[in-house]
Amino acid sequence: MTTRIDFLTLFPELCERVMGESILGRAAQKGILDVACHNIRPYTQNRQMQVDDAPFGGGMGMVLQAQPIYDCYQAVVAMHPAPPHLIYLSPQGKTLTQQRAYELSKLPRLVLLCGYYEGVDERVLEELQPEEISIGDYVLTGGELPALVLADVVCRMVPGVLADESCYTEESHFHGLLEYPQYSRPQVWRGRAVPEVLLSGHHANIARWRRRQSLLRTLKKRPELLCRADLSPEEKDWLATGGEGEPPPSLR
Ligand code: SAM
Repeated sequence: MTTRIDFLTLFPELCERVMGESILGRAAQKGILDVACHNIRPYTQNRQMQVDDAPFGGGMGMVLQAQPIYDCYQAVVAMHPAPPHLIYLSPQGKTLTQQRAYELSKLPRLVLLCGYYEGVDERVLEELQPEEISIGDYVLTGGELPALVLADVVCRMVPGVLADESCYTEESHFHGLLEYPQYSRPQVWRGRAVPEVLLSGHHANIARWRRRQSLLRTLKKRPELLCRADLSPEEKDWLATGGEGEPPPSLR
């Protein structure tokens, strides 16, 4: 199944350029992803091709008008048969999580609306009822980078984009933990040796070591994640010692 992603933006070349590179670009070439970037501007009804206007009530900046966004959305929806799920990238939305991105990766089609200036006229949001997603509690100039972040997170979990499901299920955040440390050649670098267990070829021991490291670094770097992580009672007890006590057999 192909996943379709439509960007509605004032900067379609920017989105095309990023989506055409590297892993996602190759997935598009293979037909796993179908990416289309649409310029909102040609959908204006004025000769100056103006898409923004001053906010009623005064204040700084300009607001993207409702009509070109609405008409662009309607035209784009009609370009492809898959049912669309519209997302407005907004600092006022729910913060993007790996879990929500995974759910979105199961949908056949996402339409990503990128705001600009002071944002978009509220009435087009009332009319189209998009899901609002933020990439964090800070404000960017426009919605293109947030939309590209969302598209990247979602698309790498679309089947066939990465070599294997484990490429993302074993990474940070998928199960609520941070990933274990990674090492590559050489075995010793500036006097620092790779942990012995990783050279042993003993898969069960490596798996236990990685799980222990994963728990320890989540405890150290992002302890607030642990309350939502999938942990056994023994792991919880061990973490309650601050990782100082004897690890349970499953982690030794
Ligand atoms: N005036 C808006 C506010 O205070 O909520 C901010 C507008 S921002 C300068 C312009 C556009 O950038 C937004 O419409 C949105 O599409 C995008 N944007 C900015 N920060 C974002 C964030 N943290 N997450 C998602 N989109 C964001």
